Amino acid sequence: MKVAVFSTKSYDRTFLEAANVDHGHELVYFEPRLNLTTSILAGECQSVCVFVHDQLDAPTIKQLAKGGVRLIALRCAGFNNVDLAAANECGITVLRVPAYSPYAVAEHAVGLILTLNRKIHRAYNRVREGNFSLDGLLGFDLHGRTVGIAGTGKIGEIVARILHGFGTKLLGYDVTPNPECEKLGMRYVSLPELFAGSDIITLHCPLMPETYHLINAESISQMKADVMIVNTSRGALIDTEAAIEGLKAGKIGYLALDVYEQEANLFFEDLSNLVIQDDVFQRLLTFPNVLITGHQAFFTENALKNIADTTIANITDFEAARPCPNAVSTDRLRP
Ligand code: NAD
Repeated sequence: MKVAVFSTKSYDRTFLEAANVDHGHELVYFEPRLNLTTSILAGECQSVCVFVHDQLDAPTIKQLAKGGVRLIALRCAGFNNVDLAAANECGITVLRVPAYSPYAVAEHAVGLILTLNRKIHRAYNRVREGNFSLDGLLGFDLHGRTVGIAGTGKIGEIVARILHGFGTKLLGYDVTPNPECEKLGMRYVSLPELFAGSDIITLHCPLMPETYHLINAESISQMKADVMIVNTSRGALIDTEAAIEGLKAGKIGYLALDVYEQEANLFFEDLSNLVIQDDVFQRLLTFPNVLITGHQAFFTENALKNIADTTIANITDFEAARPCPNAVSTDRLRP
């Protein structure tokens, strides 16, 4: 099948080419993100292959359908950037990679917790400057602290397993409790209880209307003083302006983000020679107790291989008209 691959980075190409060896699809690579303007690049391709920041809104999907596209192959798990109703209306199938390495994201989340707590990022810079002072680097033992995990699916469960090893107490919130987490001693509670009882809150639920701005001014007011908040899920789970107020007031003691509400304008690109216009993001960078990574939690070689293998297998299933276990139901409402 002829596939237009959007948002291509060199590493995507490397892993997709390797995965495609036994499948023989014709992959046409494009660096730009897919949106209405760039949709013309899909040309005569029957499929588009896209990532988290490609914009598959109704006008783009309709344009793609007119050009003969019948498949959207997502190289990610989340599909909040796809207008599923429009895909359904246009008879376009949407396939995704539901799991590629929950370990990658979980381990990054724990890495953020450890780094932010023990200020390893600041210590690294200090030592290189010949500054061996410990002032400002005081951390706390994770052992005995309470961690609240919102969303205890594949990634949340692994975070729970790792943090259980550190001797933390675990609180959980999920619409469907996970028995494996309960076996670790996790206590499922309501969201307000999780907010009030946790020293560290880490987010692993999907972005949906129900979880949009889960962390907001009201929920922050329910939290312990000096709370640590970690988001490796989706940016819009946090109302960033409310988080900034919480940081300024000293209520939030630590904030670690791998995702950011307006990240589509920033992440995955080298903007180091430009003036960044996002004042909210720039304000975040001024806090000594904020640690940001640019949506890299997934970025391990294991994950990239799994993403490529599953994406190519999905395209082959579609071409062979086989039922694909990774189909996104397009008759549900857009999350
Ligand atoms: P998953 O589907 O295995 O788990 C999600 C959990 O959230 C499920 O247990 C589900 O019941 C729960 N949930 C659903 N609705 C909820 C609600 N309203 N309130 C609370 N919990 C709810 O997904 P996963 O593989 O663990 O991934 C979790 C999230 O991680 C994804 O949605 C994605 O946004 C994010 N993610 C980020 C990266 C990254 O690189 N930063 C990579 C992959 C995934």
